Amino acid sequence: MIKGLITKIESKDFYVLTDQNKTYRCTLRGKFKKEFALKKDKLYLTNIAAVGDTVEFEEANSNGGVIHSIEKRKNYISRKAPKIKGASYRGERLEQIIAANIDQVIVISSVHQPEFNNKTLDRFLVISESAHIKSVIVINKSDLDNENKISTWKELYEGIGYHLIVTSAVTKDGIEELRKILPNKITLFWGQSGVGKSSLLNILFPQLNLKVGDISESTKKGIHTTVTSVMIPVDENTFIIDTPCVREIDPYGIKKEDLSHYFPDFEEYFSNCKFNTCIHYHEPDCGVIDAVEKGEIAFERYDSYLRILNTIEEDIHF
Ligand code: GDP
Ligand code: ZN
Repeated sequence: MIKGLITKIESKDFYVLTDQNKTYRCTLRGKFKKEFALKKDKLYLTNIAAVGDTVEFEEANSNGGVIHSIEKRKNYISRKAPKIKGASYRGERLEQIIAANIDQVIVISSVHQPEFNNKTLDRFLVISESAHIKSVIVINKSDLDNENKISTWKELYEGIGYHLIVTSAVTKDGIEELRKILPNKITLFWGQSGVGKSSLLNILFPQLNLKVGDISESTKKGIHTTVTSVMIPVDENTFIIDTPCVREIDPYGIKKEDLSHYFPDFEEYFSNCKFNTCIHYHEPDCGVIDAVEKGEIAFERYDSYLRILNTIEEDIHF
């Protein structure tokens, strides 16, 4: 049996990288799939194995094999599967694992083109917090920041405790600061379309040669296949995970009563809530609402909280 790391998934093919730096194209053992189906009661479109998983496989030929086991995941990042034909099961949207065993998530946004959207950023942060994975915020295109918009957001997020890096792929502002946090880690890069994720990755790793500024038809089609993320080895201990087809995200599996725990800036006020079941929505004597009114919690963050809270469906069973 050979051990390796899943770096890419294409339909039913799993690309597995070994310590010898060799990639095998593997399939999953049939029995294994059945066991999983029985356990989960929902087989299709749920990821059995994900990018970042460590697996053991049996060599079938010089570049192919059959996966027999998957190591327990340290953590994973997932979202609700996109609303597409076949993606729902009994009306529910299933969980789609983006990647497993991640050390940090870098959430890339831009100040303009597209306009900075703190609601989108907060959704990404909530997903990482709920998976207990550290996130670093990047605001790119600082060269376009004529009205000095970035500094207000930098102050807000640094005040919460997030590391925020301001970059520009044009002036190379912040590139070295970004480069410094990558060695010896598995880093997932995430960002809405057009923010400059490919441009930044190309500056950091010219060998990647990613397409810039071109959302081709084939990429759009990618959303409807299972190709979601690709792990790229940079050196022996450094990996980056690019998520070219994961532009929109909807948190999966977060309960209403847990959501506020993924807003680290709210935490210190929970003890002021009258009810310990408080979801800080319309309950009386709520410490969080109180702190928002006093300006101790930023209104923008509370607004994000309410929006996510309202998207959580009550009737989902996990
Ligand atoms: P992605 O969709 O996030 O991968 O974004 P791309 O890297 O493809 O970039 C989208 C567009 O933004 C392209 O036209 C880039 O040239 C441009 N762009 C990327 N980074 C910057 C930047 O820092 N400043 C400016 N002004 N434009 C940028
Ligand atoms: Zn409360």
